[in-house]
Amino acid sequence: MAQVQVPPTSVSNQESPRRQSPRAFSGVLSLLVAFLWSLLGLLATISTIVALVMFFLKKDSYFAYVFIVSLVAAIVFTVIRLIVTSKIKCGLCHGTIVHAKNCRKHKYAQKWPLLSHRQTTLLQALFTGYFTCMFCGTPYRVGKKK
Ligand SMILES: [Zn+2]
Repeated sequence: MAQVQVPPTSVSNQESPRRQSPRAFSGVLSLLVAFLWSLLGLLATISTIVALVMFFLKKDSYFAYVFIVSLVAAIVFTVIRLIVTSKIKCGLCHGTIVHAKNCRKHKYAQKWPLLSHRQTTLLQALFTGYFTCMFCGTPYRVGKKK
């Protein structure tokens, strides 16, 4: 009776995603662009809130103009960010890496305190060079394949 030989490669398929070696992710430029629009959107949102508070405190019409301009800028920057981030996809599950959806996140998806999954992924990718897909848990290393 012949025994079924299990090839050694099948062991690596059973590894948990955290122990997988990271896959290369070459879209560093698109991540930088997404980060830039996220940052601009955040600054415009802060400016909107500050202008609104200042308008009610000082009753100066200058802050009303600043509020309107900041609000329009925040909306425009957010729309641009949504368009940019919806095109950055995971090579494995085709999930949008830095564009959170209401789908259930993977158990290995990372989330820093006070930040969203999207913000955590973006900051991790740009400042540590590594990130995890929030939908399939696949670890990635930013940069071309070595
Ligand atoms: Zn994925």
